[in-house]
Amino acid sequence: MTRECYDAAVLGLGAMGAFTCLELARRGLSVVGLDQFTPPHDRGSHSGDTRVFRVAYAEHPEYVPLAQRAGQLWDRLGEEAGTVFLHRTGMINLGPEDSPLIAGIQDSAAKFGLEIEEFPEEEARLRFPAFHPERGSKILFEPGAGWVDVNGCLRFALEQAARASAELRMQARVESCRREGGDFLIRTTSGTVIARRLIVAAGAWSGLLLARLNLPLKVLRKVLVWVKPLHPTPFEPGVFPVFASAGEFFYGFPNIHGEGVKLAIHWSREPMQPTDIDVPQPEVDTKEIQPVLEKAAQLLPSLAGPLPGALDRVIRAKPCLYTMTPDEHFIIGRHPYWENAYIAAGFSGHGFKFAPAIGEILAGLALDGKACLPIGFFSLPRFEEPAARRGVHP
Ligand SMILES: Cc1cc2nc3c(=O)[nH]c(=O)nc-3n(C[C@H](O)[C@H](O)[C@H](O)COP(=O)(O)OP(=O)(O)OC[C@H]3O[C@@H](n4cnc5c(N)ncnc54)[C@H](O)[C@@H]3O)c2cc1C
Repeated sequence: MTRECYDAAVLGLGAMGAFTCLELARRGLSVVGLDQFTPPHDRGSHSGDTRVFRVAYAEHPEYVPLAQRAGQLWDRLGEEAGTVFLHRTGMINLGPEDSPLIAGIQDSAAKFGLEIEEFPEEEARLRFPAFHPERGSKILFEPGAGWVDVNGCLRFALEQAARASAELRMQARVESCRREGGDFLIRTTSGTVIARRLIVAAGAWSGLLLARLNLPLKVLRKVLVWVKPLHPTPFEPGVFPVFASAGEFFYGFPNIHGEGVKLAIHWSREPMQPTDIDVPQPEVDTKEIQPVLEKAAQLLPSLAGPLPGALDRVIRAKPCLYTMTPDEHFIIGRHPYWENAYIAAGFSGHGFKFAPAIGEILAGLALDGKACLPIGFFSLPRFEEPAARRGVHP
């Protein structure tokens, strides 16, 4: 068993942990990053190749500065890597004017003076021929939005973290973590490490790792579906933007590299037992695919046509995990009882786009207790603290 001491330990090397390691290592700290798998992987919340990036945030305007900073960092990281991680295809949003999606986008755009174009229905049909919006829909286009290359950017972040001397231990599952003196003693399946600072970014497993905090997290299974278009041209990148429609937030991506138009439903919920996260998710069932194809048949009729024939156009389908908080906003901040420990969890199915900005925030907190952007909105104490009420201090 090895026993070593680091300035900081990052538990989890998925979206949030990878960028936190990178930031900490580049700021000169000795860092150990630990993951039970080898990211990028299919077992957590970052599977499925691509993620939507948007700034005019329907969920709450508090996210806008975080998205703006993340956008700068995605562009900068892409330049550094000699590639593009954030593809700014633009994003089309469709729905009733008073829907949470459309009203929320307009609210954030107005508060921050963001660029949003509104298209009359006829013009939208000419510019984006694949879409058949419902009559009376409001159609908003955000030109700076787009999609992020998940695997490319995670690999780059981890490579660069290692280059900056972070020690990354893959296939090292953290089994327990406790305070010893002023340090943290972290027991893993590949040895014990000691660190002066602790950052927990364990995605769907955060509730288990911090069990005594009784975090208000619920893990849900979600499915992603890739469809081979019947008529490819209107779905090509450059023609077809990222999109979202109001109601259940049905959304999708262009036919990237000819690998299919990826579709999913963000806001419908199917509860899942927390114990399920430690076994590989079962294959996606046809019943899980059908609701997605029903929505596609309405909004994008030329993509796959109606059911049941549309099922033949499905190339691939994958499960992925959402870690929900009760208000669907993130938890970012200090551990309630441990000094020098920080938590980034509960990303509720919409965290990836912010990952490099969250890495910066966590690195700032761990270094000198200061976040580079306001994070009060994401604080854990906004929820009840049952552990504290019961007098349990983990
Ligand atoms: C279907 C789907 C679609 C999504 N679409 C979008 C989108 O379009 N835009 C967007 O912004 N976001 C999106 N998200 C959300 C986004 O991907 C997540 O918010 C983000 O990946 C969360 O990052 P994380 O670091 O918390 O979790 P993860 O990326 O899952 O990383 C957590 C890591 O911790 C490791 N870990 C856990 N426990 C331990 C342990 N005990 N020991 C060692 N390692 C451990 C895991 O192995 C994992 O690698 C989507 C999510 C899903 C599931």
